[in-house]
Amino acid sequence: MPENETTKNRAPALWSGAAPRTMGSRTTNEEVRQQNLSAVLRLARVDGPLSRSSIGTETGLNRSTVTALVNELLDLGLAREAETAPTGRVGRPSLGVAAEDSVVGLSIRAEPDAISVALVGLGGAVHSRVRHDLSSPPSPRRFVHIATSVVDGMRADIDRHYRLVGAGLAVPGLVDEMGTVLIAPPLGWKRESIASRLENSLGVQVTAGNDASVGAMAEARFGVGRGTNNLLYLGGSVHGIGGGLIFDGALLRGTSGFAGELGHTVVDPRGRRCACGRRGCLETEVNPARLLNLLGRRRLDEDELDIELGLTRDPAVRAELERQVDVLSLALTNFVNAFAPEAVVLSGYLGVLLATSRERLAQAVRVDPVGADGRAVRLERAHMRSRLMLLAPAELAFAPLLADPAALAPPR
Ligand SMILES: [Zn+2]
Repeated sequence: MPENETTKNRAPALWSGAAPRTMGSRTTNEEVRQQNLSAVLRLARVDGPLSRSSIGTETGLNRSTVTALVNELLDLGLAREAETAPTGRVGRPSLGVAAEDSVVGLSIRAEPDAISVALVGLGGAVHSRVRHDLSSPPSPRRFVHIATSVVDGMRADIDRHYRLVGAGLAVPGLVDEMGTVLIAPPLGWKRESIASRLENSLGVQVTAGNDASVGAMAEARFGVGRGTNNLLYLGGSVHGIGGGLIFDGALLRGTSGFAGELGHTVVDPRGRRCACGRRGCLETEVNPARLLNLLGRRRLDEDELDIELGLTRDPAVRAELERQVDVLSLALTNFVNAFAPEAVVLSGYLGVLLATSRERLAQAVRVDPVGADGRAVRLERAHMRSRLMLLAPAELAFAPLLADPAALAPPR
């Protein structure tokens, strides 16, 4: 099961088995058992509560193996028993297995105008959330300070009720595998080892990643991309466009680790100057800022923009909207030809454009690449909307646990 999330082995925190074990020292049986345990836990958290027989059907494992794996997850405190959804058959509902929501990760997001922190359960429950609004982009020091004081406010609750496995941090920029932000233009950060700074301050393992990659992973796992192995995710806002490519179920990183920087695809060499130095990048040409100007509004969230653009009859707004949809169509055609995804998921502002112009954009991905037989590419608006980005960074925190569930210390 390929897992490309950034996993690190620093700061053990509550992580028992954090010392990296070499593959060579582990027998094949142990490896298989670990993979099976991981597969059952993933199923339980995405589709749970699931009956043991459904787990058997989904994984192809026999009944006694499933029973042993489920018992191990229950003993580890990673799963709980819960009634499965009624099947319509007469009789008592059967007891199924779901992921344990008292096992939690911190989901942290750094944006130019806000720092968000959520306490997220392994099963997807959002136990608490705090959004700290900012009037200007935070310096790394200020970000760490604010995030830490928000988490401190949750600390008593965490200590009393939950088992914290770590924190995931989503940043609008390029983040390397050690959690160093190489560049994050919306925040004005450059070469900041933000994961280790935050880790030192919080005292739990922190894994950082690019926000679009994090969104792509979450959408592939829980959202419209569920069950899709090859997915192209594009998220847009006034701060730019980020892309994430999921191939064969894993995030495509490229040799630099930064594949998916699709916002800087040049779509008009004579277009506006982009922060990257080039002209006419997709993210400068397809940007809500221009529409907000025409609408005379400073800021609208995704839902408000949906309504405004659905209602407006202003010819200048309609013309700009059409221009942007044309540019996005051109880019999507190129992306679909280059990557041949099964599905394209548009999030944030790009989801708004899809809602206003579904026909036009569907046409753009209905391509017949040379030799292909008119393959249809699903074009979807991100399912979870703002909830997605609330949950998504926690996926970075859960990644090591999901890869090797038995490495977590048993419950106290
Ligand atoms: Zn650019």
